[in-house]
Amino acid sequence: MRSSKTLYEGKAKKIIKGPKKNTLIQIFKDDATAYNKKKHKIFKGKGVLNNHISAYIMHYLKSKRIPTHFEEKLNDREQLIKKCEIIPIEFVVRNITAGSIAKKLGIKEGLKLKKPLLEYYYKEDSLDDPMISRDHLITFGWATNSELKKIDKMSLQINKHLRNLFLKKNIILVDFKIEFGRLSSNPKKIVLADEISPDSCRLWDKKTNKKLDKDVFRRNLGSLLSAYEEVASRLGIVH
Ligand code: UDP
Repeated sequence: MRSSKTLYEGKAKKIIKGPKKNTLIQIFKDDATAYNKKKHKIFKGKGVLNNHISAYIMHYLKSKRIPTHFEEKLNDREQLIKKCEIIPIEFVVRNITAGSIAKKLGIKEGLKLKKPLLEYYYKEDSLDDPMISRDHLITFGWATNSELKKIDKMSLQINKHLRNLFLKKNIILVDFKIEFGRLSSNPKKIVLADEISPDSCRLWDKKTNKKLDKDVFRRNLGSLLSAYEEVASRLGIVH
């Protein structure tokens, strides 16, 4: 019998012990939250979709030699992952202006950036995840300079691979958030962790600019499940 004691529970996922040392199981929930949990709703089946989509993307990135925490999809809701110490920063990559950057800086949405923009947000709900600089990250010891160099490089590589992947499916990758961790079995090794799904990316249909991501929920634009289904089906994911 496996131990199903929850080790950690976040907004959209929970973590339990894995079958072997230095492994964990990541379970995708149906909860959707926005604006630092001020908005919350359950979408039956969202967790299944995100599990399949994120597993597909992690597989794809692994095939492109990006080191990840992902081991395998176990079933509709669960993934086996390598245990790691999560760096408490949200790394955001932007190709087109949208969301907080447009709001904070008074820049119109939909502006194509000449080169991808990298941003860092300190993961602390009680502070509303404030944006920080590269220097803050190093000064306060959340990552070393050499770790950050690796992460920046990996973030831009991930962006390149995902832009290509989605473009082939007539989807524009506007921006996304990723997280990284230090492997518990080898803390010098930095890997992509967490998830990559329509919860954490902005995805627009290439022809119509229709939103196929969590903005559908944030901004009440229609059916979140149909949007996520659309992403899964364009990626060829059968579930
Ligand atoms: N994002 C995320 N989790 C967060 C904040 C942002 O996954 O806690 C994702 C978001 O879905 C988008 C990108 O990161 O794809 C940039 O988000 P932004 O800073 O524009 O904030 P938002 O207005 O989406 O909260």
